[in-house]
Amino acid sequence: MKIALAGMSHESNTFNIVKTELESFDLRDGDMFIQQGRTDSSASGFYETLVENGMDVFPLFFARTLPSGTVTLDAYEYIKSHILEKLRDGGPWDAVCLALHGSMAVEGIFDPEGDLLEAVRSVAGFEIPIVCALDMHATVTERMALLSDGYAVFRTAPHIDSFNTGERAAGVLLEILRSKKKTVNVLIKIPILVSGEQSETNVDPAKSLFESLQELDKLPEVLCASYVMGFPWADSPFGGAGALVTGWADSYEVLVKTARKMADAFWDKRAEFVYSTPAMTPEQAIQAAISAVKFPVIISDSADNPTAGASQDTTRFLRKMIESGMKNAVYTCVADSEAYAVCASHVKNDVFELTLGGRSSGKECERFTVVAELINLAESQGTSYAVMQAKGVKFIISNKRCATYFPETLRDLGLEPSSLNTIGIKAGYLSPEYQEISKQSILALTDGDTALDLRKLPYKKTPRPIYPLDLDMVF
Ligand SMILES: [Zn+2]
Repeated sequence: MKIALAGMSHESNTFNIVKTELESFDLRDGDMFIQQGRTDSSASGFYETLVENGMDVFPLFFARTLPSGTVTLDAYEYIKSHILEKLRDGGPWDAVCLALHGSMAVEGIFDPEGDLLEAVRSVAGFEIPIVCALDMHATVTERMALLSDGYAVFRTAPHIDSFNTGERAAGVLLEILRSKKKTVNVLIKIPILVSGEQSETNVDPAKSLFESLQELDKLPEVLCASYVMGFPWADSPFGGAGALVTGWADSYEVLVKTARKMADAFWDKRAEFVYSTPAMTPEQAIQAAISAVKFPVIISDSADNPTAGASQDTTRFLRKMIESGMKNAVYTCVADSEAYAVCASHVKNDVFELTLGGRSSGKECERFTVVAELINLAESQGTSYAVMQAKGVKFIISNKRCATYFPETLRDLGLEPSSLNTIGIKAGYLSPEYQEISKQSILALTDGDTALDLRKLPYKKTPRPIYPLDLDMVF
């Protein structure tokens, strides 16, 4: 059987005013995907599982980038037109698989995944199955539920099951193809905004809620049961979490009951979604690090988390670290191409006045001028970095926005993370790699595009009432 595979993945933070342009995307056509396919992606899980099961899989086009601001209409139209063109040229198909994030926002389009699905249907037809893999932080809409034959969704945060999700989604497709039966998706929205930092799946309530899905998958009527958490740093008319159940269309009532039970179980736990990492004010976090006895202490500057789409150019927490007098500390990292260029025009050990921060986001209050010494200039994973030092704090400047998941980046810059006293990092919950190094982890409740106190964010389009913005509500 001949199966088309395509991917579009972006988590759009609509509070970040900097738009995401096409050049930010990592674009891959089918040949590039086969040569360099990301082994950690749901697209790879789809591909390998379907090939193993004897399917002829044709990877078409893939677009993904780090979370950031709303995607421009031009960028989205380019991605969509490339997927559709290849779909049209290569057809007819027996099935289509889409590896999506599910929380993309495009200028003028709040449901681009639904829009893409509608367009894919118009080319591929309504007779063949379309199955999708989604990120756990997907914002699923009724249109998405109607236009796809099945979904599988990540079940871990931090996300370590992208590949497995592709495998499970491929399993759903294989069942549909074998049975030749019709499926349906039941979506029950749950009016809750919850951050990833309050819903890590290694602690309850997320742990037991997500574990319960394995039992639901075993029901004969169900193909795949999923929770979608939504994405709280987007002001979307479709905002909120959801219970999403793919199953056989002739068992619709059972699927509705299953989804309702899942939604009720989630709602009942709403007050238990709390920070699994100690959360405190920036000042308290710095004091805790200074008085710690085991190192390194890793403090997340949580409101400027590039992996949740923030602008990555705030400096107020860095300033507090420098002013606190802390020693043997590193702050990673401020994305500022202009400040990086100034550093790159110097040589190691030069001491000079540098202004950084607040440029791309236009946040004047984040502009910071400091006299500092250039410690190093280095490359890591295609990004250029400068390491500067002011008082006891080394701080890193990158020439562009970048992921902050990997301690390896620090090593590439000549800094051994495990020998530091304090690491300030633009992140929310720590990646598994940083968790391994950390002796004490703290969430500093800073202000910015990914503020953890959701009540501080200027939601206007998000449906109300919604928890925890409206505490006196019923579901
Ligand atoms: Zn996610």
